Amino acid sequence: GVETSVQYVKGVGPRLGAIFQSRGVATVRDLLTFFPRAYEDRTRLQTVAEIREDTVATIPLTVSGSRRIPLRSRGGMMLEVRCTDSEGRALYLKYFHVPRGLEPRFQAGARLVATGKVKSYQSRYEIVHPEITWGASAAGAAPAAIPAAGQWPSRGVPPGAAPPAAEAAGAEAHVGRVVPIYTEIEGVPSRTLRKVLWEALEKYSPQLSEDLPRRFLDAHALPRIQDAVRDIHFPAADAKAAPQAIEALLQFNTSSHHRLIYEEFFKFEYLVLRNKLHRQKEAAPPIGLAGGDQAVQDLTRALPFALTGDQQKAVSEILVDLRQPHPMNRLIQGDVGSGKTAVAFVTAGAALAEGGQAALMAPTEILAEQHYKNAVKFFGGRLNVGMLVGKTPQAERTKLLARLAAGEPMLLIGTHALLEDPVVFDNLVMIMIDEQHRFGVEQRRILRRKGTREVTDPASGQKMLVHPHFLVLTATPIPRTLALTAYGDLAVSTIKEMPPGRTPVKTQLVAGDQRLKAYESVRQQLREGRQAYFIYPLVNESEAEGFTDLRSAVLEAERLGTEVYPEFKVGLLHGQMKPEEKARIMDQFSRGELHILVSTTVIEVGVDVPNSTVICVDHAERFGLSQLHQLRGRVGRGKHQSYCFLFTQKRPSEITQLRLDVLEKTTDGFEIAEADLDLRGPGEFLGTRQAGSLPFRLANLVRDKEWLLKARNDAIELLREDPDLLQTEHQPLRDYFLREGRLQSDRLKTS
Ligand code: ADP
Ligand code: MG
Repeated sequence: GVETSVQYVKGVGPRLGAIFQSRGVATVRDLLTFFPRAYEDRTRLQTVAEIREDTVATIPLTVSGSRRIPLRSRGGMMLEVRCTDSEGRALYLKYFHVPRGLEPRFQAGARLVATGKVKSYQSRYEIVHPEITWGASAAGAAPAAIPAAGQWPSRGVPPGAAPPAAEAAGAEAHVGRVVPIYTEIEGVPSRTLRKVLWEALEKYSPQLSEDLPRRFLDAHALPRIQDAVRDIHFPAADAKAAPQAIEALLQFNTSSHHRLIYEEFFKFEYLVLRNKLHRQKEAAPPIGLAGGDQAVQDLTRALPFALTGDQQKAVSEILVDLRQPHPMNRLIQGDVGSGKTAVAFVTAGAALAEGGQAALMAPTEILAEQHYKNAVKFFGGRLNVGMLVGKTPQAERTKLLARLAAGEPMLLIGTHALLEDPVVFDNLVMIMIDEQHRFGVEQRRILRRKGTREVTDPASGQKMLVHPHFLVLTATPIPRTLALTAYGDLAVSTIKEMPPGRTPVKTQLVAGDQRLKAYESVRQQLREGRQAYFIYPLVNESEAEGFTDLRSAVLEAERLGTEVYPEFKVGLLHGQMKPEEKARIMDQFSRGELHILVSTTVIEVGVDVPNSTVICVDHAERFGLSQLHQLRGRVGRGKHQSYCFLFTQKRPSEITQLRLDVLEKTTDGFEIAEADLDLRGPGEFLGTRQAGSLPFRLANLVRDKEWLLKARNDAIELLREDPDLLQTEHQPLRDYFLREGRLQSDRLKTS
């Protein structure tokens, strides 16, 4: 069956088998699901005159001669084959290591079709290590017959993988078609891979069994697994008959692709949602009815402002969660400045009012201190807050920890310092994490564990675990598709509405020589009493290995202070400074003693100085859109019109221009997030590690959104009907998860 070791596939054997093994292709099933990463359209044969440098071309050629050239540097030899096309133009094929048996075949007059990336070297076109198909007629071969969909010959010429006999007979198997391209496996020529796949598909694809319930596939008119897998490797599409079919293939937009993409999403969503169900069954202390809800109302009234509608909505969603005897798992997402912290504060009040403790963890000391000051300022003594950061003096720390251990109801605000072992809560019932994507999964787990306790169930007398409620905040709005995948186990509250009295920030791209004009606009603002940020990608020049043209915060602080704005006070803030130093500079800036703050992205998170009205970001092209949007959120926090200048190189590339245009046009973080996902992939939001762990081989969160939603709905339906997959028709899926599912779900947990 498909569990057979890959080495028993015809044409593989122990040596090749070992190579496959080392790349995680151990069984026949692994081989069959080693899907192409792309397709190459070789339906169009080209001539040398049509070649564009640095693109892949497929060209019928006639050999006119070959020679060996000694390589001085390496002591080896290079083989150079001179060819001409049908119009007599020359093209050279080059080999730095010559595959065995190949050289004697390059006889003058021999005909071949070469495929590969064309380079120009000393004004001659060449292809290094081309893929060769022998004997294909240079006079524009007709594509070999391709089986019609559904009519797969039991024994035929594999498209793009001609067996040697057929090659000798001059079959045009690698041209005149769309050829699958695989992720390279070192030591395995792509032709060999295709041939092996062909053999494996012939023999084993009928044995692939269906994991998914038939009715879902039928509902979406998706093909059977056997057909889909075969089709994806060796698609039955004929360009001349249907150019759209080729296009669909190149875009991974055929029903076979849909089928396999849907399957990936379905299995993934089932696990995510099942996780969520399990979490919902865990125990947590219900909060609200014993004074908590009342406290939230009182605190809300104490605020120096009225909550916006979206803030109120988020508060009530949280209160509903807290009232359950199960842990809340909620994400609040809202643009910078939308007032997420206020929501966190008032709801923490519910926990405290009922004798519980709460923790709010922020990624930087600056931010933790700002939260602490705000909490004190907003509520006076009405909310009992404490602060614990790295620099908290020992005496103070000891006292604080004693109060915690004694069970004093308190909101403890802090940084990573909260994670340290000596920090022991007596009754931590609510955990809040600000800018949650700044923390790793493990850090979130540690904090959660500090609130997990073993108690004896009064009803049954059995021991059980009680978990804390969990709330995470993020100012990086997450595109819906990502929220459903990476954060699929969290409930989401969204704050879209900004607090009143804010005017959207005006954003402008500044290329090259317009820089001076922008400096003058900044000066104008400073003269009117406002303040400005200047942001750079580097702290200092020495970091700039290989990027020596990048400006750094240290040098630019100097230059801006002496040359550009000698009449104003310039401060410098970056991540390599000591925490006290950072706090001192930040203090000076928020008191208005500094007019300009030069910084790296350390100020990205949360800093709140309403008198700042300008932010200039240098080398804007080096930042993600969401990151730029966050930086921009540092301004526009007060009553004055604010500005954001995005400096780029002299002539920004088209892509850069396109990307940054998005920022010029909209201040909606969600729209920007979608664009960012389109342009940069999920790593931008999740951190590359987390994004890399999304187990999708074919599926793409941007391209295949529609299938994600379908799969999710179906998974929900399945979980509702038969959550543990006990019915016979769900047995195959259950078997699949028993076989492989655990592995995936372990990689997945967000908290
Ligand atoms: P976020 O963390 O979402 O970026 P903050 O919670 O730091 O935003 O709030 C940004 C600023 O807006 C703070 O100065 C806060 O006091 C203020 N603020 C929050 N909510 C309101 C509101 N409803 N009305 C007026 N100001 C508000
Ligand atoms: Mg914040």
